[in-house]
Amino acid sequence: MKYCRFELNGSAHYGLVEPVAGNDEITRLLLQPPQDSDGDVEGLPSRRMDRIPLAQASLLAPVQPSKIVCVGRNYREHAAELGNEVPQEPLLFFKPPSSLLPPGGTILRPKVSTRTDYEGELGVVIARRCRNLAESEDVRPYILGYTCVNDFTARDLQNKDGQWTRAKGFDTFCPVGPLVTDGLDPWAGVQVETRVNGEVRQSGNTKDFIFPLNVIIRYISQVMTLEPGDLIATGTPKGVGPVVASDVIEVSIEGIGQLRNPVADR
Ligand code: MG
Repeated sequence: MKYCRFELNGSAHYGLVEPVAGNDEITRLLLQPPQDSDGDVEGLPSRRMDRIPLAQASLLAPVQPSKIVCVGRNYREHAAELGNEVPQEPLLFFKPPSSLLPPGGTILRPKVSTRTDYEGELGVVIARRCRNLAESEDVRPYILGYTCVNDFTARDLQNKDGQWTRAKGFDTFCPVGPLVTDGLDPWAGVQVETRVNGEVRQSGNTKDFIFPLNVIIRYISQVMTLEPGDLIATGTPKGVGPVVASDVIEVSIEGIGQLRNPVADR
């Protein structure tokens, strides 16, 4: 199952994405936001449309979350590169939904920051309401699918403020996409790569998570209710670094595709 969200004739729609002759195309309009893994997306109410190659679609962020919950320092080597201890429990923070940016959208560096970093991450989209999961409960039914996230960060403000709301929360600081798919297994290992201007800067694998998804989702659910469509950013591998105006960042995850965003000054 793969789906995206896109603009057609001035309105936003969810669309089913299927391979047609080896290329991803949007083949059907989904008449409601995909949720709950019981009925898979193919079984949702949908309407036929003239197919659009995904590469030519006017893509929107494929999620409309009530909240974006992020995990900090979930790869050992990334914790070390910023001089931080490996956390004993998942380290949680939020990005506001107003920071979402579609594939291709321009990340805007605020004037108040002198160092802004990319952070390529695997994103998890929640399928159904999830609260207080017990240790024995399987988290997989609560996962609708996966996407690419760039947890863009004003590193100087993160260090200066002592907490991360401003550093992580500027408008355009959460590029997401290009689509959501359930066709991968982060427990088995999924490669997460970030390129800047075509050069590989991060190359990590989700099998190296300090806290795997079952631990993360259970931990979050014991704090707050996760709603359908909520987004979890699972942490970034080593290799974070600054970007400046006119750089182009690409976050690629095998099985999902590439999330590409240019950078400009506000
Ligand atoms: Mg991050």
